[in-house]
Amino acid sequence: MEIQRNILLNPGPATTTDTVKLAQMVPDICPREKEFAGLMAALRRDLVRVVHGDPAVYTAVLFCGSGTLNLDVCLNSLLPPGKQALIVNNGAYSSRAAEICRSYGLPHTDLRLPFDRPADLAAVEQALRDRPETALVYATHNETGTGVLNPIRDLGALAHRHGAVFITDTTSTYAMRPMDIAAENIDFCMASAQKGLMGMAGLSFVIGRRDLLEAAREYPRRSYYCNLCRQYEYFERTGEMEFTPPVQTVYAAVQAMAEYWAEGETAKWARHTRVMDAIHAGLAALGFREAIRREWQAGLVAAVRYPDDPNWNFERVHDYCYDRGFTIYPGKVGTARTFRLCALGAIDAPDIHDFFRVFRGALDACGVAVPVRYREATP
Ligand SMILES: *Cc1c(COP(=O)(O)O)cnc(C)c1O
Repeated sequence: MEIQRNILLNPGPATTTDTVKLAQMVPDICPREKEFAGLMAALRRDLVRVVHGDPAVYTAVLFCGSGTLNLDVCLNSLLPPGKQALIVNNGAYSSRAAEICRSYGLPHTDLRLPFDRPADLAAVEQALRDRPETALVYATHNETGTGVLNPIRDLGALAHRHGAVFITDTTSTYAMRPMDIAAENIDFCMASAQKGLMGMAGLSFVIGRRDLLEAAREYPRRSYYCNLCRQYEYFERTGEMEFTPPVQTVYAAVQAMAEYWAEGETAKWARHTRVMDAIHAGLAALGFREAIRREWQAGLVAAVRYPDDPNWNFERVHDYCYDRGFTIYPGKVGTARTFRLCALGAIDAPDIHDFFRVFRGALDACGVAVPVRYREATP
């Protein structure tokens, strides 16, 4: 079977291998069969292994849904009654976490920090001192809208020093940047199959501490379907998701996991880094400027400033590239006008070289002068 290969430079879903796509083509099976439960058990163990977690301490809880579901379940399930959450908000994804708190009416502090840099630890520490009733600290690892990497190890240490649980959204770093859940002071992290794992969309997972899940059994059940403890209990009792799992997506994730181990953590991160280096180099060659300082980036997303050229038209450039098999994505850096090029997925440096040939063609077709111009003299 010939499947057209598209290069996705958007922040997920990512380009996948044909073997992962084809892994979905399986005989029909009822997910309540032992064969399927065995698949899920192995996948849960592997999900913990990716972040070097001790299986006696950490477990993985799977859900049918996109990555935002993880934010929802962690926030609605892990906040004890009478306590409050602290949302370290320096980007679009942590803003989403604050919005989830608002929609559940959860007591929380929305600590709004600048979007163009890592979270300021002193501001977080001050917020924790001001609010001793904080029981949960939440931060995004790689703020995918900007590509800013937050100092989760320090944030986790701060949370723990103040007696709070630390939850971090690792959706756009998990299975890409090597990480050790215990060393990073993470109590709960999360991701979905279509990002670092290079599987299909529709399967999401939270990885976290068993003792804290046990403790959270007594907390208010604020959602019926999206409850972390309920799903954990069901998994522990039966080895299955309580409600229908995304069957074919699970098969793809199992294949993606096998390919993850085959490539290897170090080699995979080296490949993503190679891709990102090719993106930086290609942008620089055309005169493009990035919105975030290089040393603050997670190494997976480039947020690129629109040039000051009257002929620049993101939609036209996007459509030109899309027609030729390359997908680029609009940005989310507050008010700055940006687009994004991301290094997720089953791609390598030659794909980026091909992309820049097409991108150059798009600039020429639009009549954008190269190297591109900006009004300010210096970046
Ligand atoms: C992709 C992503 C999510 C989840 O987005 P969905 O569209 O719900 O899959 C959450 N957090 C971060 C940081 C992400 O990059």
